[in-house]
Amino acid sequence: MFDLLIIGGSAAATTAGIYGIRRGLNLKIITKDFGGEVATSGEIGNWPGDGNTDGITLSDKFKKHLEYYKVDIEEGVWVNKITKQEDGTFCVSTKKGNETEKAADKVPNGNESALKCDYIAKAVIVATGVHPRELGITGEKEFRNKGVSYCSTCDMPLFTSKTVTVIGGGNSALESALMGVDIAKKVYVINKNPAFKGDDVLIKKLSFQPKDKVEIIYEAGTKEFVGDKFLAGIKYIDKEGKEYEIQTDGAFVHIGMVPNSGIAPDNVEKNPFGEIKVNTRCETNIPGLYAAGDVSDVPFKQIVIAAGQGCLATLSAVQYLNQLSK
Ligand SMILES: Cc1cc2nc3c(=O)[nH]c(=O)nc-3n(C[C@H](O)[C@H](O)[C@H](O)COP(=O)(O)OP(=O)(O)OC[C@H]3O[C@@H](n4cnc5c(N)ncnc54)[C@H](O)[C@@H]3O)c2cc1C
Repeated sequence: MFDLLIIGGSAAATTAGIYGIRRGLNLKIITKDFGGEVATSGEIGNWPGDGNTDGITLSDKFKKHLEYYKVDIEEGVWVNKITKQEDGTFCVSTKKGNETEKAADKVPNGNESALKCDYIAKAVIVATGVHPRELGITGEKEFRNKGVSYCSTCDMPLFTSKTVTVIGGGNSALESALMGVDIAKKVYVINKNPAFKGDDVLIKKLSFQPKDKVEIIYEAGTKEFVGDKFLAGIKYIDKEGKEYEIQTDGAFVHIGMVPNSGIAPDNVEKNPFGEIKVNTRCETNIPGLYAAGDVSDVPFKQIVIAAGQGCLATLSAVQYLNQLSK
């Protein structure tokens, strides 16, 4: 039995692991992959002590830090469900390898008793972050990984000298469009709003790009992805309801994130967005269960905030474990 299981492999989980091991806990980190959203973040200029770094470099440093303390990390494991047992311990059931497609968020509520316990712990920290929201339009599933992507850092380099379309209006969309400027021949941006909602510095940078390189389509609804074997175009509707089609080789969907909170016990309290509710100590409504980082209802999703919450969650768990052993 573990003192503490930490689910996730990014900023929140890393910090939780570092604090836990330094407090002498018998702990394990279980994660689908290491790096999470940090690894896909592109340029990072707001991580203290590192004026100009990038997501891959930072997540490598996170991993090395854990390795330095010999933290037990199990990668390639998808946690399916966490349940609190009658004796107060937590049962964590997982899927491995090619079974991972049975995502946690697809486990129907009320089916918990059917799951077997792969790990048991006295306390658990959920640090599973978020995944990209889908548009839910025709062709989206068909052309996923055949032109339609949700990760610009991962896939934009595949579109060197081609035409790409970014869908969205926040920081992720702006960063994606700027990446497209460096890599692609032409970048369209489809924004359903009349203006961008991101950082000023990014909005200005995009607005300075040559008009023949970047074309921004405001107040437009993306309607359909079209093509044969691969994506070839996007249909959208303007605010008058008139339909258009643009030719594009790639589409990058950046319309927000959905919390990976389905693995938490069914009686955990969440807000209307599905984020796990925590107090200032990262405690959930279930004693011994903590949430940290983007999966929690903390306002502002940032690496430094996720890391801070990872620290808080572990320190709270240490107090909980001390109480148990009294
Ligand atoms: C394009 C982009 C750019 C960004 N740029 C910045 C920036 O410049 N500065 C900044 O501060 N923030 C930035 N952010 C936000 C930042 O990346 C997040 O706030 C941060 O990564 C949150 O960390 P986290 O540990 O909560 O979760 P994540 O980084 O999302 O990691 C979640 C981890 O949980 C694992 N996981 C998920 N579900 C399961 C499961 N069921 N079982 C096992 N493991 C699971 C994942 O594999 C992953 O390792 C950016 C985000 C994006 C998308």
